[in-house]
Amino acid sequence: MEKRAELYRGKAKSVYTTDDPERLILHFRNDTSAFDGEKIEQLERKGIVNNKFNAFIMQKLEEAGIPTQHDKIIADDECLVKNLDMMPVECVIRNIATGSLVRRLGVEDGMDLIPATFEFFLKNDELHDPMINDYHIKTFGWANEDEIEKMKALTFQVNDILSKLFKDANMILVDYKLEFGRYNGEVLLGDEFTPDGCRLWDIDTREKLDKDRFRQGLGGVVEAYEEVAHRLGVDLD
Ligand code: 5GP
Repeated sequence: MEKRAELYRGKAKSVYTTDDPERLILHFRNDTSAFDGEKIEQLERKGIVNNKFNAFIMQKLEEAGIPTQHDKIIADDECLVKNLDMMPVECVIRNIATGSLVRRLGVEDGMDLIPATFEFFLKNDELHDPMINDYHIKTFGWANEDEIEKMKALTFQVNDILSKLFKDANMILVDYKLEFGRYNGEVLLGDEFTPDGCRLWDIDTREKLDKDRFRQGLGGVVEAYEEVAHRLGVDLD
């Protein structure tokens, strides 16, 4: 597989074309950003940890029947993925209230959300990823009705699978963001699942083990990601 031009440079990952038009390479960089790119730092080892973490989670999801973009790891900080036509929406599920939900609705931080709640956001840094609804998505053609329903169903299925996976490793999956794309007429899970895009708390202490450590300047960011990986049995070597 030949790596060619950089197609897109995100805040934490770069996407490269390859000699196969059906395949792309995702490069997980050490860059860590928050507040729509206002705060950016390089965190040693993060690219490698996230690449291996993502591969582990995507494999677990595939085994449980979720179709994903992931193909295989090709370097410590790179993986090969299917070339999806990404939909510009972020799908968020919350099992516990925190973050922007608390700021927007004034509900109690840390309260259990039963049932878990779902939100769509537009992927647009300049607009600070505004919350949108199904009608916006249809009206502006970001996805059609079937794709919207598929994204919701898959995001809830992922919640069942991963909440159990993390619980068995003594962690709570508080909330997370997923992105989807089209491939041969099918909706596939794209992008990544790492502690950069989810919240994970220790069950007993509620210690934060995710990117909130970076957002809130708590330190020990990559160490926390490594702790999560260790608890799940992800091979980081
Ligand atoms: P909140 O809306 O509370 O800021 O985020 C909800 C969840 O989605 C958190 O787990 C957060 O990490 C994730 N999330 C939301 N938007 C983004 C984003 O633009 N990038 C990343 N990496 N994660 C996001």
